[in-house]
Amino acid sequence: MSGTRDLDRRYVFHPFSMAQTHEQGGAQMMARSAEGCWITDDDGRRYLDAMAGLWCVNVGYGRERIADALADQARQLSYFHGFSSMATEPAAILAQRVIDKAPDGFSKVFFGASGSDANDTQAKLVWYYNNVRGKPEKKKIIARDRGYHGVSVMTGGLTGLPGLHAGFDLPLPMIRHVSAPHNIWTRHAGEDDAAFSARLAQELEDLILAEGPETVGAFIAEPVMGAGGVIVPPEGYFPAIRQVLDRYDVLLIADEVICGFGRLGHWFGSPATGMTPDLISVAKGITSGYAPLSGVLVGDKVWQVISGAGAAKYGVFGHGYTYTAHPVMAAAALANLDIVEEEGLVARAAEMGAYLNTALARAFDDLPIVAETRGKGLMAAVEFARPTAEGWQRFDAAQTVGPRIVRAALEDGVIVRALPNGDAVSFSPPFTVTPEEIDLAVSTVRKAAGAVCDALRA
Ligand code: PLP
Repeated sequence: MSGTRDLDRRYVFHPFSMAQTHEQGGAQMMARSAEGCWITDDDGRRYLDAMAGLWCVNVGYGRERIADALADQARQLSYFHGFSSMATEPAAILAQRVIDKAPDGFSKVFFGASGSDANDTQAKLVWYYNNVRGKPEKKKIIARDRGYHGVSVMTGGLTGLPGLHAGFDLPLPMIRHVSAPHNIWTRHAGEDDAAFSARLAQELEDLILAEGPETVGAFIAEPVMGAGGVIVPPEGYFPAIRQVLDRYDVLLIADEVICGFGRLGHWFGSPATGMTPDLISVAKGITSGYAPLSGVLVGDKVWQVISGAGAAKYGVFGHGYTYTAHPVMAAAALANLDIVEEEGLVARAAEMGAYLNTALARAFDDLPIVAETRGKGLMAAVEFARPTAEGWQRFDAAQTVGPRIVRAALEDGVIVRALPNGDAVSFSPPFTVTPEEIDLAVSTVRKAAGAVCDALRA
C-alpha cells in the first residue's frame, strides 16, 4: 500500500464504504492523474472511466483550456461573492449563456456549489413562493422512490433511496414519495406506455388528494433518473404528471444535475423527456466537474411572485452562499461550455449514446440474469435480476450481485457503478468517448457479469 493510501485509510472519512471496505483494506482505487476517459492510479495502472467520475466529466479529463481558465481567473480575481448587491463578471456572462440554452420561460439563475444545495434552494423557493401567495400550508414536496436529489438534511430525504435515510431520521416530515416508472419493478405485465403513465399519474393524484392539495407545494423529478438506476420515463409520463400538478397548483422541479448540459443528447433533459418544469437544478456538467458549481433556474411564473409586491413583507429573499457566483468556478464553466459548443459534444453524446445502448442490448442479450438494458443518450444501465416462472425477482441484497460485477470490472480496468441498494450497473462516460472505448467497457462488464452469473449457478 502506498503512503498516501495509508494516509487516506487512516484519516479520510469515506462514509459510503466505511463498513464494507474502508476500515478493512482502504480505498479500492486511488486516482492520481487523468486524460480523456482514462484515470491513472498511484501504482501507474490505467482505468477506463465509463462513469465520467460521478456522471459529470462530460468533456473528459485533462483539458488544458479549462485548467488555464481556472488559473487565469484565480490570478485576476480569485474570489468574490455575488448573492447580495455585489456581483462578479464571469457569473453574469455564465448566467446569460445558461438562460440562452434553457427551455423557454426561464430568466434568472442562482449559483451555488453542489447539486444538493441547488435542490435545497428549490425547496426554499417553493416555500417562499407559497408564503408570498398566502398559501403557507403548501409546503410538502413529493419526490420519487429511487430518485437522487442530494444528501443534505432536506435533499437526503427527497432522495428516494432508503439506504440514505437510515440512521438520520430522514426524510423530513414534509416529504413524500411516489413510485418510479421502472420497467421491471413497477410496470404491470402487459401495460403499455400510456397505461403505465396514466397509472403513475393517478398514484400521484391519489397521494395529493390524500395529503390535501392545499398542503402540497412541489413535485421533483430527474428527466432520466441517474443514481436510482438510469430510469427512462415512458412516453407520455411527464405530460400526464404535469396535468395532475396543474390541477392542484403544484410546482414541477426538474433536477437536471446529471441530464443538464448534454448528457441526453440535448442541452437540457426536460424538453427531451416531455417535462415542462417551473424550476430547474443544474450542477455536474456545467463545469464537467472541474470546479464545484450548481445553478437554480427560476421560471417566470415563480420569479414574478417572489420578486413581486407581495414579497415586500419578507424584506429580502434571505438566501445565498459564500461561494454564490464564485468567479473561478464560473470561469471553468465558461471554458467548459466553449468546448462543448465548439466540439459539437451534445450531438456527439447523442451519437455515442445510441452506440452504447445498441452495444449493451447486443452484448447482454444472452445472459439469463439480465432483466433489461436501457438508456437514453450517454446514460445507460443493465438491470440484473433472478428469472423465475412468475417473472423477475430481485436477488437477495446479501448476494451483492451489482457490486460484485462492478468490482470485477474494476479489477479488469473499467469503472462502472452499481445502484446504491440494487442490482443495476450504470454507464455514463465522457461525451468524448470513442466506439472502441465503449466496446471495451461493455465487453469488460459483460465478462464480469458472466462470471458472477456462473458463480450464482454453482
Ligand atoms: N441531483 C442529482 C440528479 C444527482 O445525480 C446528484 C448527485 O449525484 C445530486 C442532485 C446531488 O449533487 P451533489 O452530490 O453535487 O450534492
